[in-house]
Amino acid sequence: MKLGTTAVVLGGSAAGVCSAGALARHFERVLVLERDDLPAEAEHRRGVPQSKHPHFLLNSGRRAINELFPGFEDELIARGGLHLMPSMDAGYLQGEGWSARKSSSMTMIYSSRILIERVLRDHVRRHENVTVREGVTVRGLATRGGGTPNGEVTGVRFATAAGEDHVEADIVVDALGRGSAVGEWLVAAGWPAAPVQTLDAKVTYTSRWYDLPSASERPESWWWKHLVIMPTEGKGEHPPEHEYLVNFFPIEGNRAIACMGSWGLAMPRTTEEFVASARRVRTPVFAAAMDRSTPTSEVHLTRATGNKWRRYDRWQHPPRGLVFVGDSICAFNPFYAQGLSSASSSALLLRDQLAIATEQGSQLDAGFYARLLTAQRTRLKVPWGLAMARDRGYECAVGTEQLPEWRRRIVAALSDPAFRFIVGAAREDDVVDQHFARVFNLDEPIGDMLKSPRVLAGLLRYQVRSALGRHRVPFGFDPQAEPPATDYSMPGGGASPVTASAR
Ligand SMILES: Cc1cc2nc3c(=O)[nH]c(=O)nc-3n(C[C@H](O)[C@H](O)[C@H](O)COP(=O)(O)OP(=O)(O)OC[C@H]3O[C@@H](n4cnc5c(N)ncnc54)[C@H](O)[C@@H]3O)c2cc1C
Repeated sequence: MKLGTTAVVLGGSAAGVCSAGALARHFERVLVLERDDLPAEAEHRRGVPQSKHPHFLLNSGRRAINELFPGFEDELIARGGLHLMPSMDAGYLQGEGWSARKSSSMTMIYSSRILIERVLRDHVRRHENVTVREGVTVRGLATRGGGTPNGEVTGVRFATAAGEDHVEADIVVDALGRGSAVGEWLVAAGWPAAPVQTLDAKVTYTSRWYDLPSASERPESWWWKHLVIMPTEGKGEHPPEHEYLVNFFPIEGNRAIACMGSWGLAMPRTTEEFVASARRVRTPVFAAAMDRSTPTSEVHLTRATGNKWRRYDRWQHPPRGLVFVGDSICAFNPFYAQGLSSASSSALLLRDQLAIATEQGSQLDAGFYARLLTAQRTRLKVPWGLAMARDRGYECAVGTEQLPEWRRRIVAALSDPAFRFIVGAAREDDVVDQHFARVFNLDEPIGDMLKSPRVLAGLLRYQVRSALGRHRVPFGFDPQAEPPATDYSMPGGGASPVTASAR
């Protein structure tokens, strides 16, 4: 049984395509309206400028997409995505120095954002009842009874090269991204403005693409696939580049994206500035890798990175016939890599709620849309809480979620040491490691992790061992040297105890 005739998805990027996959089984036809012409291959396009920057696909997102489009992961890998274990495959430089390599429970698939989208598009096109219309600019919504208990969205107005047009819809999904004007169109149609929570931590990304040398051309010390340099949070004299978060992020086709990002600092814009800044980060390994690789792009800089949650769930009478997925409802500081996962997880939630409605033979009435918004709120709270926990500590952060200065200072003083403490404990304790990987991948709220007795025991053990200077896994290797290649994994999940002086 179908729940309706026509579903219309606004926007054909990650959230739009995932939503189309969620709707396909439940409506006779699904129409995706996208302003850009979509490339057949993995290519950049105007509507998704952030594709020039690294995109980590967290495991919760990878799983959600794979549920919506079975075979997605395999296809991403078949097209060149790299299935890696970051703790073994990444050179990771944090406060004290390089971390030791060690196997862990977390693996990830690395690829470019444009490849992720290309594979998503390939999948959605396999649904015979899904049509993706390109070169279509959505201009507005057709509505009835705006703001009343019976208010509903009944269609979409759009423009093509041939002129203005419209389509009637049983359900509309707003997947227009961060800049979506749907909220404004609804206000014009009689709904109250939804409250918006914001916190812009003034994060700027600057990236450049490189072809890597072949494996045989690399020195032996270049064992790593991914390089991560965490910002120095400590006081003292250092170049601003020490406060950058740096990635040399591997993607398909033996390429990497060199990316530097910061909270609130001026970032390099030209290729000369980019190369000069790279030489001033905390380790020479980043610039050396760039020197051995061939640049293939300009420098791309992005500033549109603030956290923004449009609280449609707080409406007393949400419109029937309208759903929000992806950045259009909740966009995050990209440092936390939550956008794709939140978008796909919302699309999966939509699919599951539609399946329940089908099973129960129920209507998509006002209750359905209100329940969906409530369930979505529960999911969004997890990534939002993680983003706030860190961004609220930054002096440069502005928005409705900004804390009074004294509270901000407390958050700033606690958040980095707490993060480092948990990272340290995860290095030494498998249970903490597994839970922390789940938190990082949005599979578990951090509050649940900190309620687990086994995690608390692991944290306590780590605290005691730290106090005694007896660590099971060494850390803090010299940032001026190459990241150490030694594998410190041990059967049973640990390594030989080392004293502080041995690290
Ligand atoms: C610098 C940066 C780095 C990031 N890194 C990560 C990361 O590591 N991991 C992660 O998960 N997320 C990351 N993100 C977030 C991620 O890019 C977004 O969460 C994701 O793109 C959201 O997808 P979306 O489909 O909701 O919106 P978008 O990808 O923004 O797509 C919106 C779509 O709507 C179309 N459109 C817009 N207006 C109209 C209109 N009027 N008519 C028709 N079509 C229209 C656009 O062309 C586009 O196709 C990053 C973001 C930035 C800015």
